[in-house]
Amino acid sequence: MVLKTDIEETLVEPTGCPATCASPADCLGLDHCTAAKAQPLTAIALPLTDDDDEPQSKNFTSTRNACKLCTPLGACLAFRGVEGCIPFLHGSQGCSTYIRRYLISHFREPIDIASSNFHEDSAIFGGSKNFTQGALNVTRQYQPQLIGAATTCLAETIGEDMARLQHELKEQHGDAAAPIVHVSTASYRGTHMDGFHSAVRELVEQLACGCDAPSQNMDATPTSRVGLAAGSPSSPTATRASQPRVALFPGLVSTADLRHLKEIFADFNLPFTLLPDYSESMDGATWSEYEKLQSGGTPISAIRALGSAQTAIEFGRVLAGTPTAGTVLQTKFGIPRRLLGLPMGIRESDAFFNAVADIAGSETPVKYQRERGRLVDSLIDGHKYAFEKRAIVFGEEDLVIGLTALLCEIGVTPILCASGGRSKQLEKSLRAAVPDLPEETLVKEGFDFAEIAETAPDLKPDFLIGSSKGYSIARRLKVPLIRVGFPIHDRIGGQRVLHLGYRGAQELFDRIINALLEVKQETSPIGYSYL
Ligand code: SF4
Repeated sequence: MVLKTDIEETLVEPTGCPATCASPADCLGLDHCTAAKAQPLTAIALPLTDDDDEPQSKNFTSTRNACKLCTPLGACLAFRGVEGCIPFLHGSQGCSTYIRRYLISHFREPIDIASSNFHEDSAIFGGSKNFTQGALNVTRQYQPQLIGAATTCLAETIGEDMARLQHELKEQHGDAAAPIVHVSTASYRGTHMDGFHSAVRELVEQLACGCDAPSQNMDATPTSRVGLAAGSPSSPTATRASQPRVALFPGLVSTADLRHLKEIFADFNLPFTLLPDYSESMDGATWSEYEKLQSGGTPISAIRALGSAQTAIEFGRVLAGTPTAGTVLQTKFGIPRRLLGLPMGIRESDAFFNAVADIAGSETPVKYQRERGRLVDSLIDGHKYAFEKRAIVFGEEDLVIGLTALLCEIGVTPILCASGGRSKQLEKSLRAAVPDLPEETLVKEGFDFAEIAETAPDLKPDFLIGSSKGYSIARRLKVPLIRVGFPIHDRIGGQRVLHLGYRGAQELFDRIINALLEVKQETSPIGYSYL
């Protein structure tokens, strides 16, 4: 492994552990971790991933700006999508500081993440005492209904036996601490998406039962969750007794996406449980009084009742063959699972709406048929601006697939599709979802921003589309960056970007075309005001 220190400053803007990391000794020199840059090189000469046999770029350095984020970060976000659940990191304080900073800068909402606060002695003797004390403290301070515990790199590396720790806590303190769901989240083995999906899987694995409690999202508080007057023609309460109940696992999508999914299910009159649902807890209204744990989220009773759902829908083409919340329902309760791509663009949205219509036994509501029609109409209007433009797409693997599908539909040529994920499914899933993707399109797993930056100039893109972390590359290339996904740290409203459904495709299409028009306008010697 070649280790170099001459890294361009622009490529190491902090996307990993922050300088505030309380315990640098905790860090294993993860490739996105800027704190690691300050460590002696010998301290970070460890295997970074399970895929070290992969060929590396000539200019490989061990401290890179990865196109992925810390695994417990994904778990923390998923836990905040559960009502009354507080995320709790078993590890050092710096990890929770970094994750809080990252989430707050995107969602513009406070989020508390507890930490068992490892010190040097915990790294040597284990963090049993810290875990017990932390769980009791957080219960006293926040009175949560659930503690969502994720283990950081250090706790994973020293091999903390979390089952034993939980057992000891119970034995010594009975029910003094809130119930705990633990998820194993070693960041050197995965990405924030892996942490997110694993947390959702563990919630279902550890909480769902076959009990027939009618406690889905819509059943619990139909009017507040879907914004419908009770008893109105489209109230979910009107038909819920006769309709199949759906377990919906959307993955890491925006709060606007979550709200849109709830609206769609309400319009189909289809009862559902959306897990997780951080549309309110991470993007709520102002409070009259400070809420330590923001309200909103999937009720725990609804998660327990998932074992009696009739069907499950899960978004994530690269999840094929991976144990997920959907596969837990399938194997434990015999609930059929439909694995779909993120409904982005027309084809993937059609697949989603057709699946929901099939489950509901009804047509897609006229409202969405009209949205689709308007989208097709606008593609005709904007086609001349998008046709043969070249784009670099980057981000989480499933987002990359959804975006690529959309781009191909609007006449843009994706020239590089890159992700920091390493599912080994990206190219196969991408080409299955987008059969018209050109052969010459580069599809890269385990790619980082340094590699994107190295590759991009020769590809001559017209624009980049992905998270705000691609800004420095777009700036150097003097092309627009269309900000989507997570994180968006340099704009307001990043959490409210709508990606899903015909409506989401419409918004993305308008933004892409307008960005291209703006370039045309700005680079023209004549100040055209009519394009
Ligand atoms: S869990 Fe690992 S990757 Fe995440 S902040 Fe902590 S040391 Fe860094």
